[in-house]
Amino acid sequence: MKRFFLILATFLVCIAIPSQGADTFDDDRKWMVKTQIDAEGITDGRIGVKNKSVLEAMRRVLRHEFVPDRYKSQSYVDMPLPIGYDQTISQPYIVAYMTELLDPKKEHKVLEVGTGSGYQAAVLAELVKHVYTIEIIKELGESAEERLKRLAYKNVTVKIGDGYFGWEEHAPYDAIIVTAAPDHIPPMLLHQLKPGGKLVIPVGGRFRVQNLTLVQKTEAGSVMTRQVMPVVFVPLTGKH
Ligand code: SAM
Repeated sequence: MKRFFLILATFLVCIAIPSQGADTFDDDRKWMVKTQIDAEGITDGRIGVKNKSVLEAMRRVLRHEFVPDRYKSQSYVDMPLPIGYDQTISQPYIVAYMTELLDPKKEHKVLEVGTGSGYQAAVLAELVKHVYTIEIIKELGESAEERLKRLAYKNVTVKIGDGYFGWEEHAPYDAIIVTAAPDHIPPMLLHQLKPGGKLVIPVGGRFRVQNLTLVQKTEAGSVMTRQVMPVVFVPLTGKH
């Protein structure tokens, strides 16, 4: 009888482990946030992220699901990774830092230009009411949409199109994030931002120094811009 229970216990442990360990990257994700992003943990001089909700969202979103199979083992490393079509999923730190700059709130409606893999949209979806995201490369937009659906992100809507012109139908937005670099701030994005809203955008264009720029629209409708840090993004393409 004792032997029977021993065998039964071993069997139960064997079937319990795979379900508990279904997300095998859990430790990597905690390590990524602690050593690359969290202001309390990083030691390499970069400006760390302090917003606890943003840090928690970065711990929750399964970044490896947004990375092509051959790069999965590098999902939580401190760098951008290729996602095909000469595009990249941004470095985790930049995703977190840009998200913090937007100051996301539960009731917010956010526009993202440059869906890519859908990772930034998923991070935002953990924090706000709804994310509208636009991708110019059809194949990337469609696969991001499928991925977000499979991962049960119900509050993200993907559209294929040129995000330079924003998405008027759902405007105005509490916050707008652009994850590809134009050489100037698209006027339609300013127009679609709510008074009091924030726009985070890398500005600088191809082969030029790009500056991550925070744009704030005052309640009175005037615009203030601040260059936050130098960055490297793929260019914002399209026929504008
Ligand atoms: N946010 C993405 C993620 O989390 O994976 C990474 C974005 S990647 C750095 C930039 C993306 O912007 C690319 O997928 C690119 O095709 C897209 N893009 C470039 N120009 C665009 C435009 N005019 N409208 C919409 N998307 C654009």
